[in-house]
Amino acid sequence: MPPFNVGRVPPATFGAGKIAKIPKIVRELGDGPVLIVCDAFLAEIGATEKLTKGLSAEGIVFELAADVSGEPKEALVDSLSARAREIEAGVVVGLGGGAAMDAAKLVAAIARSGRAAAEFALAAQPLPAGGIPAIAIPTTAGTGSEVTRTSVISQADGSKTWFWGEELMFAQAVLDPELTLSLPATLTAWTGIDAVAHALEGATARNTSPAGQLYGLEALRILTDALPRAVADGTDLEARGRVLWASMVAGLALHNCNTHMGHNISHALGSLVRIHHGLATGLALEASLPWLVAHPEGAENYARTAKAMGAAESAEALPEALSNLMRRCQISPDLPAECASVTVEALATEMRNPANIGMAQNAACAVNDDDLDQMASLMLRKTVVNA
Ligand SMILES: [Zn+2]
Repeated sequence: MPPFNVGRVPPATFGAGKIAKIPKIVRELGDGPVLIVCDAFLAEIGATEKLTKGLSAEGIVFELAADVSGEPKEALVDSLSARAREIEAGVVVGLGGGAAMDAAKLVAAIARSGRAAAEFALAAQPLPAGGIPAIAIPTTAGTGSEVTRTSVISQADGSKTWFWGEELMFAQAVLDPELTLSLPATLTAWTGIDAVAHALEGATARNTSPAGQLYGLEALRILTDALPRAVADGTDLEARGRVLWASMVAGLALHNCNTHMGHNISHALGSLVRIHHGLATGLALEASLPWLVAHPEGAENYARTAKAMGAAESAEALPEALSNLMRRCQISPDLPAECASVTVEALATEMRNPANIGMAQNAACAVNDDDLDQMASLMLRKTVVNA
C-alpha cells in the first residue's frame, strides 16, 4: 500500500435538537463573547432563535452577524473580522450553508491578527497561529465545510478564490437534522449532489487513498438511498439525518483527497455566471465522467464507486449511476438558461486559472489543454470554436 495521511476529524455531535448543546461547547472552548456568522435569511425566518435564546439563557454574550447572502466576499470577511476584534470574541459560530461556514472559519482564523483576508488567498502565506476557536452548525447538507480545511470566498470582481490550512479547521461541529427540515426540495437536491460529488471525486481522484475510499464510498452508499427520499419528502427526519451525516462523511473524503473535474468545471463556471455550486458541480460531473471513465487510469476506483452507488462493479457503469441518482433527486440534465451566454473559450480559460487547475490535475488520468477545451464543450453542449 503506498503511503498516505489521514486528516484530523473535529469532534462532532449528531442528533435532533442537539443545537441546545452549543452553550456548553462555548464554555468548553474558552467562553464568549460569541460572534455568530450566519446567512441573512436564517435570521429573517427566525432560525437563529434556538441558538441565541440558548446563549442568553446561559448568560453568554453574543453578536449576531446575519450578513451572509450568496457567496461571501473578501470585504465581508474583513468587516466580520473587525467585528470579532471589537467584541473580543472568544468563540466564532458559523451557522448556515457552506457560504456562512466558509466565512466563519476564515474570520476565526484571521481576526486576531488584524490582517486582511486577501493576504492569505491561494495559500500565498501561512494563516496566522492562535485563531479564535470556531463551531460549525450546518443548516444545509452538502458542502462538508464543517470538517474541511478550505474556505471558498469571492473576490470583488466575483471570481472565486480559496484559502487552505489546518488553521481553518472548526474546533467542533454540531449536526442537528432538525435545522435542515425547512430546506426546499430543490436546495436539498442541489446541496446533496454536492456531497455526492465530494464523495465520488474523493474516492476516484489521483490523490485518493484508503481514507478517501473509506469516507467516499460510505457516503455514497448512504446518499444513494437517503438523498432521493429527503428530496421527495422534506419532513422525513430520518432521511434528513442520514443525508446530513453522509455530507459530513463526504466532506472527509474531500478533506483527505480533494476533488477533480466536477469541481474544476463548476468553480470555473461559478466565476462566470451565478449558478448554485451543487447544481453546477452535479452537471459538471455528469458531463465529464463519461470522458474520465473512458481512460484506463483509475478504473478500479471508478468500478468500486459504481458498486457503492448500487450499480455493477465496472467503471463504465459509473456515469449512468450518477445520472440515475440525479434524476431520482429531480435534477434535470438541462443546463440552466443563464449559462447560454458562456463560451467554451471563456469556460476553458477559467478552468486553466491557477485557482482551479489543481483540481483538474487531480483527475486519475492526465488532462491536457485540449482535454480542458473538450470538457468545457461537453459541459456547455457547444462545439470548441477556439481549437
Ligand atoms: Zn463542492
